[in-house]
Amino acid sequence: MNTTVKRWSQQLEARIVDRQDSTSSLLLVQVTLPILLLLFALQWGGIHDDGVRALYDPVWLLPSLWFQGVLIVWLMGMGVLAWQRRHVSDRMPWLVQMSAVPAVLGVVVLALAHGIKDSPMTMVMLEQLVFARALFSLQQLRWAFLLSLMAVVLAEVGTAQHWAAYAPLLAAPIYPGGALLPWWAWWVRVVFSAAALPLSGVMFFLAATLHRHRHELETLVRTDMLTGLANRREFMTRLEREAHRQARSGRPLSVVLFDVDHFKRVNDTWGHPVGDEVLAKVGEILRFHTREQVDTAARYGGEEFVLLLPETDLTGAQHVAEKISARLREHAFTVDGQTFTVTQSVGIAQVVEGDTGWALKVADRNLYQAKRAGRDRIVASMAFAEELGHA
Ligand code: GH3
Ligand code: MG
Ligand code: MG
Repeated sequence: MNTTVKRWSQQLEARIVDRQDSTSSLLLVQVTLPILLLLFALQWGGIHDDGVRALYDPVWLLPSLWFQGVLIVWLMGMGVLAWQRRHVSDRMPWLVQMSAVPAVLGVVVLALAHGIKDSPMTMVMLEQLVFARALFSLQQLRWAFLLSLMAVVLAEVGTAQHWAAYAPLLAAPIYPGGALLPWWAWWVRVVFSAAALPLSGVMFFLAATLHRHRHELETLVRTDMLTGLANRREFMTRLEREAHRQARSGRPLSVVLFDVDHFKRVNDTWGHPVGDEVLAKVGEILRFHTREQVDTAARYGGEEFVLLLPETDLTGAQHVAEKISARLREHAFTVDGQTFTVTQSVGIAQVVEGDTGWALKVADRNLYQAKRAGRDRIVASMAFAEELGHA
């Protein structure tokens, strides 16, 4: 049961996010038909009682039933067309217009017929607008919305100027001023609930969807695809934040730059996909040896990685880097029965007075020195600004 609801909600979400013409049209028809059928059934059932029949304007009673009947049949037809094309992702502007315009305008006209100021049809109308907007772009809905707006304005001006009746379908408005007639009291409750519940449901759903997608996108923007580590952008953001904290508190903060040795050879010898595997492994080792929530392990670019270690001085950072380097050095990569290993060079700098620019420069210079001294080693120093001047 739970999984059915979950699958259903995922499908709904996918349709809302994808906005494929066929499935959006289908969904709009699916949410419109029940309320139309309910209105039709209520009116049809009610007017068999003479008392209830007298509540409707005799001139509009039959035309309104015909209007609803034709609308229902039309939308069913559109539903069938959309269903047949539900797997087709082509643009279908004709299907969108032929579903959206009648579905939205039809409901607006019915709302006007019942009176939009004192009937729950206002809720139905809002529900329809929210649903439609969730499923289609404003551009796609321009005719549906424009015609609906014109209908409402026309009705408003008409009633104000006394050449159109308010709630023309009814013999007298639902709220006559005194106590509600029993039929209307009941009808109002049913129709109001039928629209208010799905409307609040869909609004909650949209808010949750929006929130989740935003969260997913944000994660994506901060993450390196290959290794799953933070990317350079996220690293820089966190570096600035931690450096501010370092400058205020005076607590140590270290930056550790890793560069895989002779990585070009790995690519050249074993192929690019194997190179990618090596990088993914480096990422895994870095993640394993860093403190979650505290440290940041990031892919700095290509075959370069970086660690941000708050509350960690040079000795501590060196210790972490040694463990990581040893772990990588010991790992045997296997391709077609043959094995190989890789090493990395490391440059460490401890941030001084929150100066991130210098810290990165010093770490980079230390890394370069490690390379020059024969690779597979670590060079570490404090990032004093003047020190770099002499380097
Ligand atoms: P050094 O020891 O001096 O660092 O030598 P190196 O070969 O590691 O350095 P170099 O900068 O010459 O080469 C880096 C190589 O990394 C070149 C580039 O093709 C490769 N590379 C960068 N990004 C990726 C990636 O995402 N996947 C793979 N497989 N290779 C990459
Ligand atoms: Mg490099
Ligand atoms: Mg390299």
